[in-house]
Amino acid sequence: MLGLDEQARTALWQQLTGVIENYLREVETARVAPELNAAALERLRSQVQSADFTQPLAPSDALKFVAENLWEQQVHTPHPRYFGLFNPASTEMGIAADALAATFNPQLAAWSHSPFANEVERHLVHSFGAKFGYEQADGTFTSGGSEANHTALLTALTAAFPEFVEHGLRAVAKQPVIYSSSQGHHSFVKAARACGLGAAALREIPAAANLQMDVLALRAQVAADTQAGLHPLLIAATAGTTNAGIIDPLGELADVAAQTGAWFHVDAAWGGGVALVPGLRALLLEGIERADSITFDAHKWMSVPMGAGLYLTRHREILARTFGVATGYMPRDGARLNVVDPFTHSLQWSRRFIGLKVFMSLLVAGWDGYAATLRHQIAMGERLRQGLRATGWEVVNQTALPVLCFVERDHPAGRTAEYLEEIVRRVVASGEAWLSLACIGNDQQTVIRACITNFRTGPAEVDALIGLLMCVRSELQLKRAGVSNA
Ligand SMILES: *Cc1c(COP(=O)(O)O)cnc(C)c1O
Repeated sequence: MLGLDEQARTALWQQLTGVIENYLREVETARVAPELNAAALERLRSQVQSADFTQPLAPSDALKFVAENLWEQQVHTPHPRYFGLFNPASTEMGIAADALAATFNPQLAAWSHSPFANEVERHLVHSFGAKFGYEQADGTFTSGGSEANHTALLTALTAAFPEFVEHGLRAVAKQPVIYSSSQGHHSFVKAARACGLGAAALREIPAAANLQMDVLALRAQVAADTQAGLHPLLIAATAGTTNAGIIDPLGELADVAAQTGAWFHVDAAWGGGVALVPGLRALLLEGIERADSITFDAHKWMSVPMGAGLYLTRHREILARTFGVATGYMPRDGARLNVVDPFTHSLQWSRRFIGLKVFMSLLVAGWDGYAATLRHQIAMGERLRQGLRATGWEVVNQTALPVLCFVERDHPAGRTAEYLEEIVRRVVASGEAWLSLACIGNDQQTVIRACITNFRTGPAEVDALIGLLMCVRSELQLKRAGVSNA
């Protein structure tokens, strides 16, 4: 039976809040990552497959089964010693918001089905637009940055080729090409495929030595493509690359876009967070206000639970032109009001109240709370940078953002993929911390990557990581010297 009676519900909520509170309180005592091996996978599979849905479980047993397995079988991104990809700990208000969204289940396809939810998201779109320097903004919440980048490509196609909306790429006279840097996010590859352009339409512009997109190389490529009869459609800058936190020269790229008539998109999925820190937007994101569209992921630096992306644009009419459809079955109750139905404005149709976790987190932390948190994380990044330098590592990326790419300075093999991989493998296997490898630059140099992604990460955790790296390094030295076979 789908519904539970009041007594069962009360017990379930009590157990659930117990699970949540226990996780938040105790997660730092867990291994950051589970052990991954064939035997563990076998055990996990038989565990999961033991659920054959023929014998209904009591709600409490179902909850217990899931909670225990989540505890055991995931990389705990909310762990303060998770120095990983942009997967933060969830804000408590975000957790509450997701529970409310599931409970009230507002439908964000038609405005009239959820006026409150729609007005909250509209308010957020305008507020974030203003943070990025837009005088007027439109936008839509997305599942994440990938959908936002996909949306950017679709709106660029619609803006450049009005005939695209009805007749598709076949009607487009010149083959469109898009530009990102070799350090850009690979969601543009998928977007190019999904839009029918094909991955070959994406030009990976080389990075300069500082890992920013090489503007001269971009200009040369745009000129060559134009010469060849192609249409430079979209220039996608990255504000905070995934591997190294590099911000492309936004103003110069905006100039190139303006001169060629290309759509200028800024993928600020993670790095866009600095727009919330007074002073830093002007310093680090200068030029972003000239973007035709912006990608920003609240589920990254703003620490709301996944997925919460934002596509923002300064073109008020472009989403309706890209996604507008007329149907006979959608509610029309809002037709006489000055409102927009989200299904005419987004790749999604039925849509969850994505903005609520952002709204509730902001209501409680405020812009100031976010600014203070981000500054703390930047300071922890600086502590890690200095600690690494002091203990024999060379930090190879130059960024003000708290993501560090490093190699070992003095060890003869300290820049080789094999050696760095072994360091990372040992750190992760210890269960004490999580970090990863990345490949940066045009030659895909392997580096160790550590990011302060968690707002709970403090000096103790940063120092623990530095200590752990020293430990692992001496283990490897002993092994080389034949003292131990650890
Ligand atoms: C994470 C990321 C994306 C993809 O966003 P998702 O939310 O994972 O879909 C795109 N661009 C950049 C720069 C990112 O860091």
